[in-house]
Amino acid sequence: MNHENTIVVLGGGVGGLTLVTELAKSVRGKHRIVLVDRKTVFHECVNNLWAITQDVPDYGAISVDFSASLRKAGVELIEAEVNSINPESKVVETEKESVRADYLVIALGAQLSPESVPGLADAGYNIYEWKGACDFGSALKSFENGKIGILVSRTPFKCPAAPYEAAFLLDSALREYGRRQRVQLDVYTPEWQPMLSAGDEVGNVIVGYMAERGIGYNTERFALKVDSKNSKMLFEIDDAEYDLLAFVPPHTAPQAVRSSGLTDSTGWVPVNPNTLETRYRGVYALGDISSIRLHNGLFLPMAGVFALGEALVVANNIAAQLGLCQNTQFSGEGFCFIEVGNRLAAMGSGNFYAAPSPKVSMTPPTNENWMAKRELASSITRSLKALESS
Ligand SMILES: Cc1cc2nc3c(=O)[nH]c(=O)nc-3n(C[C@H](O)[C@H](O)[C@H](O)COP(=O)(O)OP(=O)(O)OC[C@H]3O[C@@H](n4cnc5c(N)ncnc54)[C@H](O)[C@@H]3O)c2cc1C
Repeated sequence: MNHENTIVVLGGGVGGLTLVTELAKSVRGKHRIVLVDRKTVFHECVNNLWAITQDVPDYGAISVDFSASLRKAGVELIEAEVNSINPESKVVETEKESVRADYLVIALGAQLSPESVPGLADAGYNIYEWKGACDFGSALKSFENGKIGILVSRTPFKCPAAPYEAAFLLDSALREYGRRQRVQLDVYTPEWQPMLSAGDEVGNVIVGYMAERGIGYNTERFALKVDSKNSKMLFEIDDAEYDLLAFVPPHTAPQAVRSSGLTDSTGWVPVNPNTLETRYRGVYALGDISSIRLHNGLFLPMAGVFALGEALVVANNIAAQLGLCQNTQFSGEGFCFIEVGNRLAAMGSGNFYAAPSPKVSMTPPTNENWMAKRELASSITRSLKALESS
């Protein structure tokens, strides 16, 4: 078949997979769609949170090998490391082959870099990775008393609610085990309040939930290093001891993006907030890799809900440029379920593009929200499995 245009999507995570499945519906057979990722297994990392208290479904239910379903949908796959990106020529070099795009979408996410804080990797458990979250869950089982620290090592980090949810889940699990009064639970973070971009209303509610549960909240703690021998975190302003440590590692853009000339002083890729186009025509960046400054001077949070919403807009607008539909714009709407323990979740939702600052409000915790979060946590896996068997 003689294809008119080649659409190359880098990254098969939340954004990239949403984009190619959406594009497959509109441009399949008329244009070539190529997805590049170093692996073909997608894992829904929201489930890591439940792994820290060992309350997770079987791994098979929250992860999927997407190669068969995407090939069936007419998407070409290159399973390879992206080594370099030339946004001018739209040529991407992978470890296996090079590919030239007419439309190039970068959805490579954020790279986790615990090594950027000296001592961190040896000191505790990286709960942003499945293994770290599961290992932390095992360590918690036999943890009888002492200090548990949850350390946010740098901003920005994906899912700004996650470390707070981790604290609520630990509080709830320790109560269930009958050990809560013997365990001191503390969050340490460089932020001055939780979920910064969402504003004061949301931040204050989370601070209140921590206070009600006796969870210590230590703000403006920028970790210089972690001394695993003496179980001590050294911050710019003081230090703190721990017996068991869970951490959110520093996030950076992947090397191929950093060396492409697409990043700015934030270290991420600035894009048009409504179209996700970079300063290069026909080159888009979406999801965690993109950087969108809000009216209050802060940035759109790194979250799956935004990666997904942005991918739908980019898929539509590429199809529009190919003459298949009308253009649309990303509106900055988003939501997030905030798990607070005891099978309850609050919900924050609103418009992050509102001026002069995001309009985000919180609704109180309910079991319905908690069930909706569980449902959401396997939704991409389910739709890819359905695509394969259709
Ligand atoms: C514990 C946890 C809980 C979370 N909970 C929520 C939640 O409740 N709600 C929510 O909205 N978000 C949540 N998130 C955040 C959400 O998972 C991310 O924001 C989302 O995955 C970002 O999507 P993305 O497509 O930008 O990147 P990713 O999903 O990270 O995908 C990036 C892809 O690029 C590939 N890649 C990267 N570099 C290369 C390279 N050089 N070569 C080849 N391939 C490469 C990777 O293999 C990966 O498949 C959570 C995250 C964590 C860690």
